[in-house]
Amino acid sequence: MSLFSLAGKAAIVTGSTRGIGLAIAKGLIEAGARVTISSEDAADTARVAAELGMPGIPADVSDPAALGRLVDGTMDAFGRLDVLVCNAGITGSASPFAEIDMADYDRVMAINLRSQVVLANLAIPRIASGGGGAVVLISSLSGLRGNARINAYALSKAAAAQLARNLAVEWGPCGVRVNAISPGFIATELSAPLLADEAFMARRMAMTPLRRPGTPEEIAGAAVFLASPAGAFVTGHNLVVDGGTLITDGS
Ligand code: NAP
Repeated sequence: MSLFSLAGKAAIVTGSTRGIGLAIAKGLIEAGARVTISSEDAADTARVAAELGMPGIPADVSDPAALGRLVDGTMDAFGRLDVLVCNAGITGSASPFAEIDMADYDRVMAINLRSQVVLANLAIPRIASGGGGAVVLISSLSGLRGNARINAYALSKAAAAQLARNLAVEWGPCGVRVNAISPGFIATELSAPLLADEAFMARRMAMTPLRRPGTPEEIAGAAVFLASPAGAFVTGHNLVVDGGTLITDGS
């Protein structure tokens, strides 16, 4: 069997109608998996699912009942679940902590973090009872460094990497691996406002050894690695995919 084959495997990718989630879904499908497509927008979910020839189940990840329907619907469609990718996320509004809007804070935490806890608890027992598999939680480089403006987002992303470590310890004995991916700057709709900010981009690319933003496909490669036999001895890891932004001191 190929190291990177996911033939016969069934997966869920949240936020898979565009950006990083869509690229991950396509990567898993290319590796042989069947994937449930999902976002909070029913029309987008149906369109992308039809384009990829996969089932689509809309779910706002901040709604636990919708996450239940997502997992149950996937079990109905495929009869099994092997891979879960918790990708859906929002940035919320940027501000210093002194000016934080706590309603925004609650929304960011619900979508970026609470949803990952709820979905992991719904999905992992199914993955374990099918013989084991893999969970990938999308974290962020902003959860690994200090930043004076990215507040709730960075907290939620740091916690996602910790959630991967805790779940890895809990579920490793049952054959379920849980890892995080921390993307650096990736060109998507989410990062479009920063991409349009010339001063920000000049500063950010100067401290990125590869001197360019990443692509969603470059995150998909990491997700396929972690989900497939190639990653079979990797668990509890936070894989940074950032063109080197984290490891340079800028000099
Ligand atoms: P994006 O282009 O904005 O796509 C986000 C996806 O998540 C969309 O499919 C969106 O669907 C879905 N989504 C948002 N809120 C949702 C909700 N409440 N319920 C269900 N689905 C929801 O974002 P992206 O850049 O691909 O980012 C994907 C993940 O990577 C996020 O967790 C983000 O924090 C993380 N990340 C991104 C970067 C970057 O530079 N782009 C860097 C580090 C980490 P709808 O259109 O239906 O809302």
